[in-house]
Formats: sequence, structure tokens, C-alpha cells
Amino acid sequence: MFDNLSDRLGNVFDRLRGRGALSETDVREAMREVRVALLEADVALPVARRFIDAVTEKAVGQDVLRSVTPGQQVVKIVHDELVEMLGGGEGAQAEDLNLAAKPPVVIMMVGLQGSGKTTTTAKLAKYIREKHGRKALMASLDVARPAAQEQLAVLGTQVDVATLPIVKGQQPVDIARRALESARLQAMDVLLLDTAGRLHVDQALMDEMKAVAGVSAPTEVLLVVDSLTGQDAVNVAQSFSGEVPLTGVVLTRMDGDARGGAALSMRHVTGKPIKFAGTGEKLDALEAFHPGRVADRILG
Ligand code: GDP
Repeated sequence: MFDNLSDRLGNVFDRLRGRGALSETDVREAMREVRVALLEADVALPVARRFIDAVTEKAVGQDVLRSVTPGQQVVKIVHDELVEMLGGGEGAQAEDLNLAAKPPVVIMMVGLQGSGKTTTTAKLAKYIREKHGRKALMASLDVARPAAQEQLAVLGTQVDVATLPIVKGQQPVDIARRALESARLQAMDVLLLDTAGRLHVDQALMDEMKAVAGVSAPTEVLLVVDSLTGQDAVNVAQSFSGEVPLTGVVLTRMDGDARGGAALSMRHVTGKPIKFAGTGEKLDALEAFHPGRVADRILG
């Protein structure tokens, strides 16, 4: 995770730390290198720019440059800004699911085809049972992709979580209604709706998402995006967040993401926290996203 970015930043900061005194020019020079490293990591341009401005403003202050360990201080400022960029608030902790609403709490999963949405739905159902001790029902509303509903049923068996019986020919909104009814009857705590994806964002998809949200009143709407797609992931997030009321983001394939651009841009683009990271194909490869820990990892 973030290996390339981590190496690049590591080099810049090793040099800064290695010097006894720092001038404003040294800081600005280092920040130019950081900017390039961020852009090469596929961080969205406005996000990189804002980051550099914030760090520079704090780092060229006299109390930093005149301190005994100016390099160290600059690295600390970078760390704190990274946490901020990753969405860290109080204590830079992970933001968990909001399960406080009246049950069944509806969690709607949205995203493009291939983003890892169905896998993540099953991972979350397992997480909800193991970490929260809550009973979940999963339902696939994906009538577009052949065998999508069966795929969720198979995953449900693997994680030992119930799935809504498949009724062929039913439309997404009707499946959502039936799922809600079924979750109520079975006194489920949580209902996870795995919505249909598309290869690209289109209006029909957005209309479907809005209609499903309309009948299911989700407490959480989680956007699942593939971190490996970098700038594309950012564009997808922008499109979705303009149309459906997202409450959070799940970044998948973080296990293979050496660059980190999507992770670093997501908060700025959506205004919503990254709640989880998918870190593998296995159904327990889901981690709560801790901005503080991720920043530590990036800075080595
Ligand atoms: P969907 O079309 O969005 O529902 O995508 P799927 O859930 O079917 O996932 C597509 C592929 O990505 C599957 O082979 C998953 O095993 C894989 N996948 C999903 N999440 C992750 C992840 O976090 N890491 C890795 N390495 N693979 C993942």
C-alpha cells in the first residue's frame, strides 16, 4: 500500500531531516518535490495544491524554521495535513457504520461494475455480525449483470449471512421493497442492498439509485470504488456524490495500490469519510480506515 509515494516522500524528508538549519527556500523546494510526488501518485490536482499550500504556510513560520529540529517539525506538519486530507477528525480514528437507526438499518452499496461491490457487501455483512453482533440480511438488486444475484447468494453462504431469495424478473425497486419487508419480518438488525453497477456512470444508473434510495430510506449509502483506478476513481466519486446522498466510501484493492491517489483525494471530492479499505479477495480482508494509521504508513 502506497509504496511508491512512501518512497518518494521518504527521500524528500530524509534530506530535510538531515540538515541542521532550514531556510524558507529549502522548505519551498521540498514542497515542490512533494507536489510532484503527489501528482505522480495520481492525487487530484486541487487536492495536491491545497495540501502544499497548507503545509507551506505552517512550515515557513519562524518558530518552525528556528526550532532545534526544523526538518522534524516540517515532517510533523506534513503528517498532520495528511491525516486531515484523509479525513481525520478527532484522534484521526476510523468512522464506523452508523447502525443507531431503527432496525432494519438499511445500508445501500453503490458503485461501478467490477469495483468490488458484491464482495464488499458480503465482507461488511460478516463485519457487522462479528464486530457489532448484529444480524444482517443481504439482497442483490443487480438485475443487469447475469448471475449477480446468485454471486451474492454464494458469498452469503460463505460468510453465513442470509440473502433474500431470488425472484426472477423483479425490478430493483420491487426487490428493495421485498427485502425491506423480509428484513422486518425476520427482525433483522441490518439490511444490505447490493445495487446494480454499470461499466460507466450513466443517468439510468443514477435514476435507479435514487429510486432505490427513495423506497428504502438508507441510513448509509456507501460508494465502493477501486483504488487502483486512480483519477478515474475520483471522477466516479464526483459523479455519484452529485446524484446520491453518499455517507461514506469504501476503497477496494488497497492491497495492490502503490500510488494512493484515490485514497488521498476521496475526502476532498466527496466530502465524506473513507470508512473501509478492501485489502484482498478473502472475505475477511476488510479494514476500518484509520486516517492516522494510513498517514503513518505513507510516511513510513
Ligand atoms: P462488483 O462487480 O463491483 O460487484 O465486483 P465484485 O465484488 O464481483 O469483485 C470483482 C473482483 O474483485 C472479484 O474477483 C473480487 O474478489 C475482487 N476484489 C474485490 N475487492 C477486492 C480487494 O479489496 N482486493 C482485491 N485484491 N480484490 C478484490
